[in-house]
Amino acid sequence: MQSPEAVRRQYLEAMGVTQWERRAVVADARATTLPEVIAPPILAPTAGASPEWTALEEAVRSCTKCALHSTRTQTVFGVGNRKAQWMFVGEAPGADEDRQGEPFVGAAGKLLNAMLAALGLKREQVYIANVLKCRPPGNRDPQADEVEHCEPYLIRQIELIQPKLIVALGRHAAHSLLKTDLALARLRGQPLSYQNIPLVVTYHPAYLLRTPSDKRKAWEDLRRARSIIAETTTP
Ligand code: URA
Repeated sequence: MQSPEAVRRQYLEAMGVTQWERRAVVADARATTLPEVIAPPILAPTAGASPEWTALEEAVRSCTKCALHSTRTQTVFGVGNRKAQWMFVGEAPGADEDRQGEPFVGAAGKLLNAMLAALGLKREQVYIANVLKCRPPGNRDPQADEVEHCEPYLIRQIELIQPKLIVALGRHAAHSLLKTDLALARLRGQPLSYQNIPLVVTYHPAYLLRTPSDKRKAWEDLRRARSIIAETTTP
């Protein structure tokens, strides 16, 4: 059985970070191992069930507000800890997610899992959702009317979870939550918030799969996010 540190190093490798900064990053990962208080507990999948969540799930499941309902296999609600400190928001389900009904289960999801593991987090400890709950055909970009109709579901998820921090994965999530059209490069590294919840913008994992040279910058964003969480967590 591998040590947690070996597993973590493997994930940093998967993120492509150690290729460039092998010594520095591994030392940093060791030095900044998450204190117990920051790593939230793993809850049973049913934890956090409430009439509010049940109503929201039902509203999403039966939604026909935009044309995407006619091409979806199923809606993709969101997954994870409903009392999470960390919430990750992506763009929209792809083919794998549409088939399985869970966000980030395809290739981009594997990289997201690696990003989480590099932070010392398991998927079950965070909450993962998308701006759109239905797959746009051919994975095209979300359209304005689709975002307008679907966004209230994400907003309600955030209200119910009250995370300590939101990570917007890619420009669609960032633009939707921040109501801006600034380029991702202008949003990264900025002190931002959504409804007083700190928000960190980083690259979408699918983009990182196409542009691995930016994985190091994504790791910087995640480390920044981790510092923000640490600042707001009293031991
Ligand atoms: N890309 C996203 O933005 N969300 C998913 O769930 C999968 C891929």
